[in-house]
Amino acid sequence: MRDYRVYVCEKCGQEFPNDHDGCEEHENGHIRPDNYALWDNGSYQPDSRYPAFIRIPMADGTEAMYQYDSSLPAQKNSSPAIGSSQES
Ligand SMILES: [Zn+2]
Repeated sequence: MRDYRVYVCEKCGQEFPNDHDGCEEHENGHIRPDNYALWDNGSYQPDSRYPAFIRIPMADGTEAMYQYDSSLPAQKNSSPAIGSSQES
């Protein structure tokens, strides 16, 4: 009998059959937000309650910019947001 395992990236769901190290390397390649200190100054529009874009500092020293798409109901069973408690 052979043991067969599929490792799954927790960030994007890509599967790595029998490749723990490859999955780990891949998963660590996703850059995480450094914290949730968001920069939204100047991104609000007069006809919208939400910022048109936000900038998020990332762990590698860059800032990622995300553009508003749509509003969704809050997910009650999701894991807590990274950095929701103030660290630093
Ligand atoms: Zn991934």
